[in-house]
Amino acid sequence: MNDILPPESARWEWLEDKVRQLMARYAYRNMRTPIVEPTPLFVRGLGEVTDIVEKEMYSFVDQLNGERLTLRPEATAGVVRAVVEHNMLYEGGKRLYYMGAMFRHEKPQRGRYRQFHQVGAEALGFGGPEVDAELILLANALWRDIGLRNVRLELNSLGQPEERKAHRAALIAYFEQNADQLDEEARRRLHANPLRILDTKNPAMQALVNAAPRLIDFLGAESLAHFDAVKSILDANGVAWTVNPRLVRGMDYYNLTVFEFITEQLGSQGTICGGGRYDYLIEQIGGKPAPAVGWALGVERVLELLKEQAGEIPALVPDAYAIIPGTAALPVAVTTIERLRGLGISVQMHAAPAAGGGMGSMKSQFKKADASGARYALIFGEDELARGMVVVKSLRDGAGGAQTEHPLDAVSQWASTLQSNS
Ligand code: ATP
Ligand code: MG
Repeated sequence: MNDILPPESARWEWLEDKVRQLMARYAYRNMRTPIVEPTPLFVRGLGEVTDIVEKEMYSFVDQLNGERLTLRPEATAGVVRAVVEHNMLYEGGKRLYYMGAMFRHEKPQRGRYRQFHQVGAEALGFGGPEVDAELILLANALWRDIGLRNVRLELNSLGQPEERKAHRAALIAYFEQNADQLDEEARRRLHANPLRILDTKNPAMQALVNAAPRLIDFLGAESLAHFDAVKSILDANGVAWTVNPRLVRGMDYYNLTVFEFITEQLGSQGTICGGGRYDYLIEQIGGKPAPAVGWALGVERVLELLKEQAGEIPALVPDAYAIIPGTAALPVAVTTIERLRGLGISVQMHAAPAAGGGMGSMKSQFKKADASGARYALIFGEDELARGMVVVKSLRDGAGGAQTEHPLDAVSQWASTLQSNS
């Protein structure tokens, strides 16, 4: 679990702003659900025989009432619970998004943490392929907005439960024939959830898994038509994709379209975003049956990839740094700074490092002003204050930076000269 500190946190805020703007353009509305949910929600929702439920959940018993609780390992189950609880689909579909921390007890490594963050988008109450495509276009637009390159899109269709049944039988037969090549986990999952074996991360089993019966070959006309419709909308919009018949995703709730956005630039943690359709989850969680589709992206992986690609993120700097030579100037200085802030100018105020020790030398204050990155210094010097004036000095053109005086009683007339035009 990581602390996210400045200046790194500025990159997070920048990404969050981009997400908010993007979601507004696609008319997806923000949703915030609790970090903690009842354990059975995830067991039922994600599936008992999944990596997350079997080995990655932080679960505990509430000491006060004995309830079993879990730190959310993902947010779709919680969103669906909330949608059902608040009857949000009573007048039609809803498009929602969230951002927040998720928790999985994994082996920490680059791009894999125990507390990590996701941005997710969900469209509930819509059954057509146009919404699958919209969500993919939405993710794609985010990559464009933040300048992310070299991300490829893999698609698959998991069909419907009936089609899965036939495939499941073929899969079990195939794995039984090759039982000597199965690892312990796969052997255990063989009859409980053979599809999960396809999602194995064990390199020794990749060849076996690659030659397994493909679910896509078991799909009927309706499922294939849905898949084709998604692809043609993507084609029409110039979004490149490949079909990966091995793509099954980590949770049991998916059906029909599933997809992942993948990069080769982050080693084995290359999936930055994954999602798909989950038409049966709402009913599973106790709601009136309704279709749904969504995705989640890993914020750490996206930011890491951006860094890898030297993506430029504007640094956060104040417009001005207020230099206050003596404590006597504080009342007037702070009042002026407050007026400027009220007018939208960002001002970092010089503050004494210790009580009673004075404000510090001009030299040390200028040093701090330079380090802040501010374009201007506001200097609340004694002589100028006596004349009702404050000095504005440019910090960007060397020691002889241009210097002007402005009246303290007419802040609104000169405030805009401090606004960074960068
Ligand atoms: P992986 O196969 O890498 O374990 P996953 O299939 O478990 O990923 P999802 O549950 O689909 O991941 O979550 C969506 C996204 O969240 C992932 O594509 C990834 O970017 C991010 N993510 C998942 N687990 C972690 C983690 N432990 N640390 C950081 N990011 C994660
Ligand atoms: Mg995982």
